Amino acid sequence: VPTHSFDAFIIGGGIIGISVALELRRTLRNVAVIDRSQPGREASYAAAGMLNVIDVTEPPQFSSFARLSAQLYPAYIDDIRSSTSFHIDFQRDAALSIGGEARGERLDETEVANLEPVLATGGQPVYRIVEDWVDPRTLMPAAIDCAKHREIHFVTGSEVTEVVMQRDSVQGIKTERTTYAAGLVINCAGAWSERIRGAHTRSRPVKGQMVSLLPAGESIRHVIRAKDPDVYMLPRQGGLVAVGATVEEAGFDKSADPDTARSLHAAAAKVVPSLAQARIHQTWSGLRPASPDDLPVIGPTAVRGYFIAGGHYRNGILLAPATGHVIAQLVAGDECTLDLAPFSPQRFK
Ligand SMILES: Cc1cc2nc3c(=O)[nH]c(=O)nc-3n(C[C@H](O)[C@H](O)[C@H](O)COP(=O)(O)OP(=O)(O)OC[C@H]3O[C@@H](n4cnc5c(N)ncnc54)[C@H](O)[C@@H]3O)c2cc1C
Repeated sequence: VPTHSFDAFIIGGGIIGISVALELRRTLRNVAVIDRSQPGREASYAAAGMLNVIDVTEPPQFSSFARLSAQLYPAYIDDIRSSTSFHIDFQRDAALSIGGEARGERLDETEVANLEPVLATGGQPVYRIVEDWVDPRTLMPAAIDCAKHREIHFVTGSEVTEVVMQRDSVQGIKTERTTYAAGLVINCAGAWSERIRGAHTRSRPVKGQMVSLLPAGESIRHVIRAKDPDVYMLPRQGGLVAVGATVEEAGFDKSADPDTARSLHAAAAKVVPSLAQARIHQTWSGLRPASPDDLPVIGPTAVRGYFIAGGHYRNGILLAPATGHVIAQLVAGDECTLDLAPFSPQRFK
């Protein structure tokens, strides 16, 4: 017998779960987010926060989805800011790419020296890209605080073990101790999505390690993405530089090792030589939620009232606003702005 009843239950309090909850709360009264530990402490805490619209050609729906989300970002940040006093570190139009494919405006040496004096180009072309970035460690607490102000209910330290269904309709969710009734359940459990009984989705973890550096002198001002060596870095509060990232199929292991930290540091110092003297401030890792074909998994399942929002892999911070947006449209039965066919959870049979 269910002890509590909600309009919508969201499994997972990462950036995806919180964004979905904020959108659903616009029309639904009783919305709850459940997390097996503290919300916002998994992949969404480990992420770099580049809002990088990757121009992949296959499937074209992915680029449309990424572009929509990048467009929604400024309004998404403003909306969160309107219900919290927490600071969000969000910067507009501040990315440089070095040695990569031609994208954006090509800069000459003088322009590079003015914009980013610490960068060593080594004669490689540098492009200025119209792209924003956000520090996820400031975004997550702000988004959670905003959700609380909007009376979204949080259940923390409680692991969902089963999505409960009867005939072809969702009834709610089960944890070890409690059953919650809900006519609407959204699985946003990231890399762990498939491990819930009745999940109807697929997921696997892809580990990413990062390091933050404390420069001895001047810090960077932009996101810098380099091709050779393949490394990226972002400015963080306090003059820190976040450097990433590895892409490892290592199961649910989340350890960060000193050798990897050293090689990320060395790669960063090739692009920004003054970082050779920087101190390693922190190392960490996170588990990106990937699907068997590495595309997002977004949409309805065969079970009425039960939806998936997962598989955001390397782009979940970017894709969060558009994910909330399309899930709200699907739930309302509205026509969807985007063609979500390639992302259907029902493609895994
Ligand atoms: C090193 C690194 C760098 C990255 N850089 C970027 C970047 O620059 N830009 C970008 O857009 N993306 C980036 N990403 C990807 C991004 O972090 C993810 O795509 C995104 O955070 C996924 O969000 P999520 O909410 O699905 O997952 P998560 O943040 O992992 O949240 C899932 C939540 O579900 C909870 N949960 C799991 N199972 C259960 C259960 N059974 N019951 C209850 N709760 C459960 C977990 O505790 C967790 O809080 C990066 C990732 C990593 C690791």
